Amino acid sequence: MKRVLLVATTTGYQIRSFGEAAESLGVQLAFASDRCDQLDDPWWDQAIPVRFHEEARSIETVLAACAESPIDGIVAVGDRPAVLAARIGRTLGLPGHPPEAAAISRNKLATREAFQSAGLPTPWFFATPIDADPASFASRLRYPAVVKPLALAGSRGVVRVNNEEELLAAFARVRRLLSARDVRLERDEAHGHVLIESFIPGAEYAVEGLLTHGALQTLAIIDKPDPLDGPFFEETIYRMPSVAPPVVQRRIIGAVAAACSAIGLRHGPVHAECRVQAAADDEDLRVYVLEVAARPIGGLCSRAVRFEGNVSLEEVLLRHALGEDVSSSTREAAASGVMMIPVPRRGIYRGVDGVDQATAVSGVEAVRITVKPDTTLVPLPEGKSYLGFIFARGRHPADVDRALRDAHSRLEFRVERELAVL
Ligand code: ADP
Repeated sequence: MKRVLLVATTTGYQIRSFGEAAESLGVQLAFASDRCDQLDDPWWDQAIPVRFHEEARSIETVLAACAESPIDGIVAVGDRPAVLAARIGRTLGLPGHPPEAAAISRNKLATREAFQSAGLPTPWFFATPIDADPASFASRLRYPAVVKPLALAGSRGVVRVNNEEELLAAFARVRRLLSARDVRLERDEAHGHVLIESFIPGAEYAVEGLLTHGALQTLAIIDKPDPLDGPFFEETIYRMPSVAPPVVQRRIIGAVAAACSAIGLRHGPVHAECRVQAAADDEDLRVYVLEVAARPIGGLCSRAVRFEGNVSLEEVLLRHALGEDVSSSTREAAASGVMMIPVPRRGIYRGVDGVDQATAVSGVEAVRITVKPDTTLVPLPEGKSYLGFIFARGRHPADVDRALRDAHSRLEFRVERELAVL
């Protein structure tokens, strides 16, 4: 039986999807995580405990654990695991992204530098230490601009600023976020800096791709139909297939391929985000790749990306990790989408009404509320989780859009104000 090592921080849904995929393929999974104590899935006999900030020791632990039962492939789930997975892969001689490239893709400053040296469209940018005084440069910036941490995910800490006053406020806010306990616990030196760059207007797309020895296979171009103009950048709907004109789609794919090559990513899943600036003439159309993560689309959202023959993304990724040819895997014919249900406001979540009504909406396949009752909800830019997910499929992308919005309008979240502690 072939064996694939999953390197992950998450104990959640995607891990379960990998478990199901492994079962249907007859593949055995080994699991390396920094959350081994929280694993309650039946898929793993023995998880290998790692620490993402202690790479050398973690690699040794994994090597020792794999000495008796060797692994044939490796998959990373999440941004931090991608770097460790790449290092383990290189040590074991398994194909994967070069560790240097995985490290660049995890760092927004290093990514900008790589794009700039490769001559790719990129916003102006600079990084500054979090203890710098933003008043020293605020008056010299061109606005609108974006302030963001170098190595957080899910739009956490990403803030658009339109003038000096907003810049000063946002800088203080991002500095506070980077000093929060959960961020400090990552012990990532990237959290000592803040990136400031120009705001790139335009429609936004995500690309789910798979690199095989440097060649990009586009699994899906994903439309983000809601405008993302700030001040915070909450993802809501991801919808596919893209309704962008073919020329735009071709340019997006070309830009993502160039971005992967500028970073040095070569083999394995990639998830890219880009902004497209339309122009009267197709020649003038500009695609700015904002980032390319060296991992697949995260969490439950991966369920929206399904392949012909009812094959999951996780099955395709496991087969690819084992060196199989997946070039004929094509996305299903149906339109599909997911809504990441945004946190409406800060407060204590008590429960939700209307789930049955939302699930009954035509086209809706599932409504998964993932937030636990009595949790304190924190919206962006500080927050890092959604309330849950709505999945829909239909003949046309517009049907999917309608179904997701209709279902969302039927959900009523009970959120109480937090009591002030005296
Ligand atoms: P994360 O890795 O946390 O998702 P990103 O850098 O991808 O961080 O930013 C999250 C979102 O913020 C993007 O998807 C985009 O909508 C918005 N954003 C980030 N940087 C810019 C920018 N320079 N111009 C316009 N929008 C941006």
